[in-house]
Amino acid sequence: MSSVFAHTAIAVGIWRQRPLSWLVLIFITAFCWLPDMDYGLRWLFDYRPPYRWSHSIVFVTAIWGVFAIGLTFLTKYFKLGLPIKPILLLTLVAGYSHLFMDWIIGSSWGDPLLWPFDTTEYSSPFGILPSSPKFSQSNIHMYKNLAIEGGIIGPIAFTMIRKGKVPAWAWALMGLFFVPFFVWGVSLPR
Ligand SMILES: [Zn+2]
Repeated sequence: MSSVFAHTAIAVGIWRQRPLSWLVLIFITAFCWLPDMDYGLRWLFDYRPPYRWSHSIVFVTAIWGVFAIGLTFLTKYFKLGLPIKPILLLTLVAGYSHLFMDWIIGSSWGDPLLWPFDTTEYSSPFGILPSSPKFSQSNIHMYKNLAIEGGIIGPIAFTMIRKGKVPAWAWALMGLFFVPFFVWGVSLPR
């Protein structure tokens, strides 16, 4: 899994591609976080699923489908005037971005992307992002992995958020961060 910070940074980046309203940012952020709802279930009900089924393309698409029907109905019924098509496109990209970011960690366990049709746990054969370790102030791995993740995701999110032409100084700064952290991320043992 990637950290909540990385998923949130990418959520803002996706939203900036068509900054519609704060409400749309909330929708996009919710879909960027959606697959990690199993942590919420564990925290609330001590529910530990045998498979991380919320990290499935089928599950994310199904929830998005329900959202799409609900949004379309509410927008038409209450004449909310919401731009349905871009909202649906951005939220779908948001949901899939989470699965992609977790996949690219290349961890040894992976996620059941095709659940419930297949319980195989998929993981990228090459890892780039570090996994998000247990949050604890005394966990040194947490600081290290968050730094690597920030060095990789930060420049990508910055480019997405800034939109349009990125000035030369920003490219230089991003190169300074991105390249070493990317190399560090790839070289982590998995
Ligand atoms: Zn996740």
